[in-house]
Amino acid sequence: MNIANATPLVYRVETSGKARSAAERDAVLASPGFGVHFTDHMVAITWDKAQGWHDAEVIPYGPLSLDPAASVLHYGQEIFEGIKAYRHADGSIWTFRPDANGQRLQRSAKRLALPELPVSEFVESLRQLVAVDKDWVPSAPETSLYFRPFMIGTEAFLGVRAAHKAGYYVIASPAGAYFAKGVAPVSIWLSTDYARAAKGGTGAAKCGGNYASSLLPQQEAQAQGCSQVLFLDPVEGKYLEELGGMNVFLVYKDGTVVTPELSGSILEGVTRSSILQLAHDRGHKVEERKVSIDEWKQGVTSGEIAEIFACGTAAVITPIGQLKGKDFAVGNPDAPAGELTMSIRKELTDIQYGRVPDRHGWLVKLHD
Ligand SMILES: *Cc1c(COP(=O)(O)O)cnc(C)c1O
Repeated sequence: MNIANATPLVYRVETSGKARSAAERDAVLASPGFGVHFTDHMVAITWDKAQGWHDAEVIPYGPLSLDPAASVLHYGQEIFEGIKAYRHADGSIWTFRPDANGQRLQRSAKRLALPELPVSEFVESLRQLVAVDKDWVPSAPETSLYFRPFMIGTEAFLGVRAAHKAGYYVIASPAGAYFAKGVAPVSIWLSTDYARAAKGGTGAAKCGGNYASSLLPQQEAQAQGCSQVLFLDPVEGKYLEELGGMNVFLVYKDGTVVTPELSGSILEGVTRSSILQLAHDRGHKVEERKVSIDEWKQGVTSGEIAEIFACGTAAVITPIGQLKGKDFAVGNPDAPAGELTMSIRKELTDIQYGRVPDRHGWLVKLHD
C-alpha cells in the first residue's frame, strides 16, 4: 500500500529566474504557431516502485537529465496526452474534459507497463502549471495553451522488463488558430503498405511508438501532396481506422453521422466522443461501426456521403476534401467545408471558449 498516493501530492514550486518579460511573451503570443514555443515552467513528478508518486515540482522549463541507459531510450516506454487551456472572455482559464484525458493516460500507462497517475493528480498537474504560467494562455480568437503531459521510463537498466522508475512531466505551448486563413479542406493519402497499429498492439494507447511508425507513411503522403495519412485495419486492410493523430467521421446525405467503431487499434479521441454526443443531441442518427474503404469511395462518388472530416484536440475538426491512393482519387480538393462539419466545429469551440452553455459539464476551471 502506498501512503504517498493516498493523499494529494504537495508541490515544490521553483519559479524561473529566466522567465521572459511581458514584452517577449507578447511577441510570442502575437504569432504562436503550434508546438514551437514553450512557457517558462514545467511540471515534473517522480515515480519509483518503492515510493510510488512523489517529489511533485513546478520547475523552470529546461532539458531533462537522463541516464543514457534509461528505459525510454531503448525500449520506448513513453506515453503522452494532448489537452488545451482556453481563455474565456472574462479572463478565466478553463480546460475541456480533463478526466477523459487523465483516464486515457491511465489506460496508456497500463498498456505500456508504466505506473498509473491518479486522474485527480493529472488535473492538478495542469492547474499547477497554469498557476505559474497563466499569462501564457493567449486570448485571441481560437488560440489556446496546449498542454503536453507525458510519461517515460527512467530506470537505468538494459534488462528487458518494465522500468522501476518513471517520470511524468507537463510542458505547455501557446497555440495559434489552427486554420489562420479560415477552415480549409485537406487531401489525405490512403496508406496501403503500412498500418499504424497491429491487432493486439498499442494502437489504443497514446504512445510515441505509434507515431514513430506513422512518420514514414506520413512522408509518403506529403510527397503525394496530401497533408495526412488514412490507415486501414491491420488485419484485413479493408476497414477505416483513423489518421496518424486524428479520428475520422463521415456524414451521409440523410444526416447519419458515422465513425469507425473502436477496434482495439483505434485511439479513442476525446474530440471523437464529444462529437458523437453533440450529433446525437441534435437528433442525428449516430453510428459507431465498421466502415470499409469501398464504402467511402462509392459513397463519395455517388453522393451518398456528403461530408467527411477528421478530429482531434489540436485542430478540433478538419474537413477532408479528397482521398488519394496509389491508383485513385475521390472527392474534390476544392470543395468548401461541409455544413454539418462547420456547424459542429462551431458548437464545440463555442463550448470550449465559454460562448454557449456547457450543458454536459465538460469544462473545468483551472484559474479565475
Ligand atoms: C490524440 C490522438 C487522437 C485524437 O484524440 P483527441 O483526444 O480528440 O485529441 C486521435 N488519434 C491518435 C492516434 C491520437 O494520438
